Amino acid sequence: MISRFLVAASAAACLASISSASAADLTEHEQLARDIYEKVISIRTAKGQEQVPVMVEYLVGQLKAAGFTDSDIQITDYDSDGEHTQGLMVFYRAEGEAAHKPIVLLGHMDVVDALAKDWERAPFTLTEEDGYFFGRGTTDNKYGITNLVSTFIRLKKEGWAPNRDLVLVFSGDEETGMVSTRAQAEYVAENIDPEFVLNSDAGGGVLAPDHTPIFYAVQGAEKTFATFELTITNPGGHSSRPRADNAIYELADALKKIEAYKFPVRYSDLTLASFKASGAVTPGELGEAMIAFADNPKNKKAIKTLRDNPETVGTTGTTCIATMLRAGHAENALPQSATATVNCRIFPGVGAAATEAKLKEVIDNDAVQFELITDVTESPESQLRPDVLAAIQKSLEARGVEAPVIPYMESGGTDGMHYRTKGYDTVAISGAWSRPSDMYAHGLNERLSVDAFYGGLDHWVVILKELAGGE
Ligand SMILES: [Zn+2]
Repeated sequence: MISRFLVAASAAACLASISSASAADLTEHEQLARDIYEKVISIRTAKGQEQVPVMVEYLVGQLKAAGFTDSDIQITDYDSDGEHTQGLMVFYRAEGEAAHKPIVLLGHMDVVDALAKDWERAPFTLTEEDGYFFGRGTTDNKYGITNLVSTFIRLKKEGWAPNRDLVLVFSGDEETGMVSTRAQAEYVAENIDPEFVLNSDAGGGVLAPDHTPIFYAVQGAEKTFATFELTITNPGGHSSRPRADNAIYELADALKKIEAYKFPVRYSDLTLASFKASGAVTPGELGEAMIAFADNPKNKKAIKTLRDNPETVGTTGTTCIATMLRAGHAENALPQSATATVNCRIFPGVGAAATEAKLKEVIDNDAVQFELITDVTESPESQLRPDVLAAIQKSLEARGVEAPVIPYMESGGTDGMHYRTKGYDTVAISGAWSRPSDMYAHGLNERLSVDAFYGGLDHWVVILKELAGGE
C-alpha cells in the first residue's frame, strides 16, 4: 500500500527543484540500482504466481556478491492462504559491540497483480519513456526494495561499518494475507527488539504540478481496517403472499441509518500538525479548512469542508461504508436472508469492538447479525523521533531541497501497523518525490519519474549513516 496527501499545490512554495543525473551517463551505483529495479519488476510477485521465492533468490545473489554472508541472511517460508511465499531478512551487523539497539527497515516484495491486456505497456517489463519508469511495483514497493538493497550493497562495498545492527525485513504477502508480515513482526519483537522501525513503503516527498517540492510526508499512523457483514434472516415464503417483515427492507433500513450517521470528530497532535502544514500549501477553501481545523478542531465549517472531500474525510474520524450486497435466492420468493458488507476505517485508539457497538446502537435493530470478517490489527500512532527527523532533514539537505517535514496518518494499511502494535515507533519515509497526479499504485500504468528514481538513491545512505554512525 502506498498513498499520499492530496495537494492542489500553489507555486508560491517556490523551493529548489529536484534534479538528477540523466539516464544517459549513469554512475556505477545508478546502473546497479537500475539493473536491480528492472530485474525485480520482471518477476511477477502477485498472488497466485508463487514468484516471491524467485525474487528472494535473486536479491540474495546480489547481496552475497557484495559481501553479505549466509549468516547475514535469513529466508523463511510461509503459507499465505495456500500459496507458498517467503520473507527475507538481511543483517548489516555492527562492528564490535553495538552502540545502540538495532534499526529494522521494512519493504514488501509482493505486488498487486496487473493484467497485460489492460495496461498500455507490459506491466512486468521496466519501460523508460517520457521521463518515467513504467511497470507494476515501480512505486509500490519494488522501488523501496531496490533502494534499500542497493544501499546495503553500496555501503558494504565502501567498507562502511555501522555502530548498530541494521536489518532489512522484507515481507512476501503484504498486499494480501500479511501472514509473512505478522510472523516477521513476532520474530523481530522476540529476537531483534529494535529501537525503532523505518518503512520504505509510504511517505516521501510531495511535488507541485510544476515539480516544485512542497513538503516531505512521514507516515506515522494508520487507521484500523475492519470489515463487517450485516445479515438479516427471515422465514421467507412465496412472493405472491408477502409477509409484513422482509429481510431486504429491514437491511435497507439499517444501511440508511449507517449512511446518515457521522462518527464523532477525532484528531491527534499528528492530525493537527499535518493539517497546519499541508493547509499552508493547499489553495482555496480546502486549505483554509485545514488551517481552521488545526486552530480549532470544533470549527463546524472546517469540519464540513474536510468531510465533504473524499481526500480528507478519512483524516477526521472513523468512516464506515457499505461496499457489497447480496440477498434473496429467486425472483418469485421472499428473501430468506440479506447481507451487506460494511467496511470501516477506524481512527487509531477507537477499536473495532467500540465501532461495532456504535453501529449496533445506530441501527437499533437486534435482528441484524454482525460478523467481523477481517483479522483486525489495531495500531497506535508512532512518534517522529528527533533523531529520525534530523536524519530526514539531512537527506533533504543533501539533495538541496528545502521543505517542511510533515507527519500524516494513512487511511490504508502497510506492514508498519504490525510493528506499531508491538510497541515499536514505526514511520514510513520513502526516498521518492512525486506529484499526487503521478500516483498509480495498485492501478493501471503505475509509474515513477526517472528523476525521482535516481534522485532518491542517496536517501537511505544519508539516513543510515546519520542514524548508525560511520562515514
Ligand atoms: Zn505497498
